[in-house]
Amino acid sequence: MTGAPCILSGPREAVGAWKHRAGTRGAFKKILGGAVQNGIVQAGNPALRQRTRPLSVPEIRSKEIQRLIENMRKTMQEAPGVGLERRSVPFHVLINPKITEMSEEQVEFFEGCLSLGGFLALVSRAHGVRVECLDERGKPKVITASGWYARILQHEIDHLQGTLYIDRMKPRTFTSMDNWNKFWKGMPVAEIRKMLDDPGFRRGSSE
Ligand SMILES: [Zn+2]
Repeated sequence: MTGAPCILSGPREAVGAWKHRAGTRGAFKKILGGAVQNGIVQAGNPALRQRTRPLSVPEIRSKEIQRLIENMRKTMQEAPGVGLERRSVPFHVLINPKITEMSEEQVEFFEGCLSLGGFLALVSRAHGVRVECLDERGKPKVITASGWYARILQHEIDHLQGTLYIDRMKPRTFTSMDNWNKFWKGMPVAEIRKMLDDPGFRRGSSE
């Protein structure tokens, strides 16, 4: 039930969930005529770069999609927690989500993804968002979120477009999880940026 944000499928309208694995995506892809796979899809798998399509309400209620959702739920329960797991949110299903930023305010924070296991980078995201979508029964719902939850929603819905956090990250902040724990954990983001943006930065120079 924990883990850094991670998503499921397609273009601005499709199935989304916290954490995905190929079984899930595979099942989804099968609907689209693709191959079924097992395990969490890792970077380089074309599935991560594909856009999904909207689902109709009858499709959502079909056995196939209901099985897919159940599969995703189990996957999430079994998936290893990564990085910032304590900040995650419980499993829930978003179908055909449309996301709107609620304010101009952007926030930078370290973000990871189970499809790029073991790494983190600073990513700028809107502080608040509103998501209109359907639930697992095809019923419309609206979510307003801020902070970490808003970040997860943006990360997950990006996946539906075939977009990964590395497309949005500040490249110089890219770090392995181990080194984040070793060197950067607990340090204010502004300070990290200052150090990493400084071409003359030398380790220990701030001590
Ligand atoms: Zn992800």
